Amino acid sequence: MNKGLLLVISGPSGAGKGTICNIMREQIELGYSISVTTRAPRTGEVNGVNYFFKTVDEAKAMIANDEFLEYAEVFGNYYGTPRKFVMDQLAAGKDVLLEIDIQGALQVKERYPEAVLIFIIPPSMEELERRLRGRATDSEGVILKRLAGAAHEMSFAPQYNYTIVNDVAERAANEIITIVKGKK
Ligand code: 5GP
Repeated sequence: MNKGLLLVISGPSGAGKGTICNIMREQIELGYSISVTTRAPRTGEVNGVNYFFKTVDEAKAMIANDEFLEYAEVFGNYYGTPRKFVMDQLAAGKDVLLEIDIQGALQVKERYPEAVLIFIIPPSMEELERRLRGRATDSEGVILKRLAGAAHEMSFAPQYNYTIVNDVAERAANEIITIVKGKK
């Protein structure tokens, strides 16, 4: 059996990664990964569904045991991809989609060079700000921090295999699906 494709998607907060990933999941069969995070759950988020919510000590123990395919500190919290679950799915021939930050994506590229890295960018910085404010789940401080980080984050796009402009989520998702099918 052919191994599945490991697809890694990153981009600034508010670029629309989540929406694109949801559309892709509706259109093609994709394995998934549930990340570990030490941040607090947002309203409506469920442990074991959106994330595995852990304490800093628990996350550090997982790092020490080399249980992560990649991990990173994002906005002061740990985020990591448990390795075994992803590797088992790839071995079973399933394509797996990871939506992770840039530091993590570059670790994946190093440890698993067959991964396909996709960078999602918003059509403009103005549009990014509009989307971040429209989300209304984060404090003003968090929004400003994310906006400030976005310009810096965009400079990593050349290290990815593909850069996709999220003008319309359906179109962007279809562009990625075309890339996935082209790798088969
Ligand atoms: P949020 O707190 O908004 O859910 O996610 C914040 C950032 O963490 C996003 O950029 C998201 O892609 C990233 N992230 C989520 N899970 C992981 C993970 O397992 N590893 C890494 N490196 N980043 C992650």
